[in-house]
Amino acid sequence: MKLRQFALVPALLVSLFQPAAQAQENVLNLYSARHYQTDEALYANFTKQTGIKINRIEAKEDELLERIRNEGAQSPADVFITVDATRLAKADELGLFAPVKSKLLEQRVPAHLRSPDWFAFSTRARVIIYNKAAIKPEDVKSYEDLANPKLKGQVCSRSGAHPYNLSLLAAMVSHHGERKAEEWAKGVVANFARAPKGGDTDQIKAVAAGECGVAISNSYYFARMMRSTKPEDRKVVEALGVAWPNQQTTGTHINISGGGMLKHAPHKEAAVKFLEYLASDDAQRYFADGNNEWPVVASVKTENPALAALGNFKADTLSIPAMAKNVVTAQKIADRAGWK
Ligand code: FE
Repeated sequence: MKLRQFALVPALLVSLFQPAAQAQENVLNLYSARHYQTDEALYANFTKQTGIKINRIEAKEDELLERIRNEGAQSPADVFITVDATRLAKADELGLFAPVKSKLLEQRVPAHLRSPDWFAFSTRARVIIYNKAAIKPEDVKSYEDLANPKLKGQVCSRSGAHPYNLSLLAAMVSHHGERKAEEWAKGVVANFARAPKGGDTDQIKAVAAGECGVAISNSYYFARMMRSTKPEDRKVVEALGVAWPNQQTTGTHINISGGGMLKHAPHKEAAVKFLEYLASDDAQRYFADGNNEWPVVASVKTENPALAALGNFKADTLSIPAMAKNVVTAQKIADRAGWK
């Protein structure tokens, strides 16, 4: 009888301590909407530095968000990384993130590029691409110019419901208010060369082909083409100019890729370490160069010929989390303006 009791005690202890032991496993479960080959090196370097193994699940941005939501408290995910502030803001609104307090992250990531729950790790600009044979650079100096009747029938665009355009519209709301942002959106729609279709790269190609004179695109799509050795891409790049919008006023609209620690993260310590690692010099270089973006840590220099060729510009310093709060308004404006 006594022996049996003794045998039970260690068994009970083991089962009680099992969850804790599991949580201390040297792993990090990462849900990532990034799928760039260079990210392999980014993760391998983290494992080398910390001994923490990364289990990665990659899927489309919105799918991952849905998955984390459905898994709820059972979710194995520690960190979620994705692109565009609207998606990070959505995850935040759904209460999926846990706040992270980190001196290092506060020091390295500028205040307008983070919230208490998530951090940006790279930035991209929404630039104006124009056909050099058809459009004068002085006619595309600002986003506002895209709504000028002068550009009637010249503007190509992807869907107004896409996060990239919603974020730009949300920034317009932040700067000028809802009414002016709507006027702008209606002006842009009135200038469309065709109904919105395709992604940013499709708009770039349409401008080069002369289907339209101007389009807005995230900078990395154009940088990717600049680095391409394909003759057809060379031709596209040669036909086009890049304008940094709003250099005299608010600066060019930027967006981010970033991430945060999840509320039910089983490996919280590893999650914070990983986020801090993403702000390190090494990781910043991998993270940004992999997709031709800019590091968020100002002192980090990249060696990217396309980014170097694009040169310096004045970026909008609007708080990205504050801007993201206007995305719901932006969606309503896009609907009312018929920016489908
Ligand atoms: Fe993209």
